[in-house]
Amino acid sequence: MRLTRYFLPVLKETPAEAQIVSHRLMLRAGMIKQSSAGIYSWLPLGYKVLKNIETIVHEEQQRAGHIPLLMPTLQSADLWRESGRYDDYGEEMLRIQDRHGRDMLYGPTNEELVTDIFRSHVSSYKDLPLTLYHIQWKFRDERRPRFGVMRGREFYMKDGYNFDLTKEDALHAYNRHLVSYLRTYERMGLQAIPMRADGGPIGGDYTHEFLVLAETGESEVFYDSAVTDLSFGDREIDYDDVAQCQGVLEEFTTKYARTDETHDEALFNEIPEERRRVARGIEVGQIFYFGTKYSDALGATVQGPDGKPVSVHMGSHGIGVSRLLGAIIEASHDENGIIWPEGVTPFHAGIVNLKQGDAEADAACEDLYAKMSAMGLEPLYDDRNERAGGKFATMDLIGLPWRITVGPRGLKNGVVELTSRKTGESEELAPDAALNKIAAIYGKQ
Ligand code: ATP
Ligand code: MG
Repeated sequence: MRLTRYFLPVLKETPAEAQIVSHRLMLRAGMIKQSSAGIYSWLPLGYKVLKNIETIVHEEQQRAGHIPLLMPTLQSADLWRESGRYDDYGEEMLRIQDRHGRDMLYGPTNEELVTDIFRSHVSSYKDLPLTLYHIQWKFRDERRPRFGVMRGREFYMKDGYNFDLTKEDALHAYNRHLVSYLRTYERMGLQAIPMRADGGPIGGDYTHEFLVLAETGESEVFYDSAVTDLSFGDREIDYDDVAQCQGVLEEFTTKYARTDETHDEALFNEIPEERRRVARGIEVGQIFYFGTKYSDALGATVQGPDGKPVSVHMGSHGIGVSRLLGAIIEASHDENGIIWPEGVTPFHAGIVNLKQGDAEADAACEDLYAKMSAMGLEPLYDDRNERAGGKFATMDLIGLPWRITVGPRGLKNGVVELTSRKTGESEELAPDAALNKIAAIYGKQ
């Protein structure tokens, strides 16, 4: 993309309404525009990152054997009356009537709808296990929408639902989700720690929230600092291997890590004092096994091996796709702007032409641009007629991990400058060597 042809409405001033850094930077970098409280338009740069995050979530869900589908945002109230949640859900649910006076709602979540699909089409245990998921807009009329996309009213969520014959199978589905979430967040350059959460009215031990540590997080968290040493890495995993998935769950959830809802002071105090941490975190996902609550309420049974009908065991598993943009920025920025992890960056590298209009510099930039595109990489070429300082400031603000700076002086010596956004370190290299280095970083060689 050439910047002169792009739509990147960066702001010079810091928007006064934004209280936390990720919100400020998303506005300044021209990623989002508020349309009303807690509802945003996704401008091109923000939309690109949102799509990158969505792609990672899809890939990791499907790697785990989960099946994508798409359910609507508007739902009929009838199903929610069947489950009893139409009245229970309260003011967070946006209720609408259509022209015929029928009660509709903008879905805050999809347990009822997906259970209805299941009960209409699945009748035998032989069709299990089954996990369906979608990535769709949700609406919750939050009392205090704030922090930009972090706590929106309209937000983008991946929600997945497993259907299993037995509790044991459903717990394997739970473990599979935990493992796939660890991979998902790590690919985005994030450490998200599974923490024991509150099962709510249904109770039970089977719910974990994934938290990204950040001072601006809304949740208070208590943990053993040893959990921050754990990383999933690129280990091979067989998602059908029950023992292997269980092993990963144990590895990542045995050490103390809880939100304030389940915090147990006595247990916490058993951790050696120097490892006790009280901090704040951003909830970027949650997994939940809830047994037969919805299948009982909605009559989602299958014929079991003995021919008798059994209610299926279910769980639901969410990832806050749009919130993740805020969480990633909270975890990765400096005073000059965003620092995108390579896994989600909107463009792989920026090309800065120090002297637009200089025949040699222009040609070198064009050549880099063409070669990078041919490699399957997407550069953002700042081809504006601007001073170098302004170009650098824009690149730093929007946070591309790599910048290639091209100027007449360097070209005389046959070099361009390659700069890491994260470390600020630069090196002079021949243009092709710079390209090869970037290609290698993104695995394009
Ligand atoms: P919270 O406690 O933050 O209100 P929740 O526990 O009600 O969230 P879930 O039902 O677990 O949310 O939804 C799954 C994920 O969707 C959450 O882990 C979070 O990342 C994201 N999410 C929930 N509410 C919002 C919101 N208002 N804006 C953006 N993302 C949200
Ligand atoms: Mg939650």
